[in-house]
Amino acid sequence: MKTIKVDNVVIQCVQGDITKQPDVEAIVNAANAYLKPGGGVAGAIHRAAGPELEKECSKYAPIKVGEAVITKAYNLPNKYVIHCLGPRYGIDKPEDKLLADCYINAIKLAEENKITSIAFPAISTGIFGYPIEDATKVVLKTVFTLVKRITYLKIIRFVLFSEQDYIVYCKYLDELGGSYYEK
Ligand code: ADP
Repeated sequence: MKTIKVDNVVIQCVQGDITKQPDVEAIVNAANAYLKPGGGVAGAIHRAAGPELEKECSKYAPIKVGEAVITKAYNLPNKYVIHCLGPRYGIDKPEDKLLADCYINAIKLAEENKITSIAFPAISTGIFGYPIEDATKVVLKTVFTLVKRITYLKIIRFVLFSEQDYIVYCKYLDELGGSYYEK
């Protein structure tokens, strides 16, 4: 795990599975518009949460690109799931703004619900095809900017499934974290 501190917020990146983060209050789903199980992150989250999650999700579907909605987490070891619909690379434009909107809206929902810790997967970088390096730069710049306005969140964790993606996140955390860096 790599950790930096920006203002009062701890920003972490870890290699792992988003469904196995029991020490965070909310996890974020890289959802599809209909908030159905599907593959990738959404499949793993619905499998671990159980069928009640799909039932609650059906009340909010469909969602728009960049939008976020919050549900309970059922059998997951967390309190909430925040579902975001990322842009499909090359289709939903402008991709960078829509990807940033996912993180902005998820953090807004977290703050509204007084959530103190949240874990994000690398939204849009799987089936939706967003190149990991470009996505990482957009995400970290967005989050570093938001951190100044955060009240409740104390931990923001990025969970990367593959070692390659984890290495990319670590590289940009160092580069973009810049002067904020505190071990
Ligand atoms: P999208 O449709 O938004 O691209 P995906 O679920 O296909 O979403 O993938 C998003 C990213 O999450 C990819 O980098 C993928 O490797 C990763 N991923 C897949 N399963 C998991 C998991 N269980 N935990 C964390 N990350 C995951």
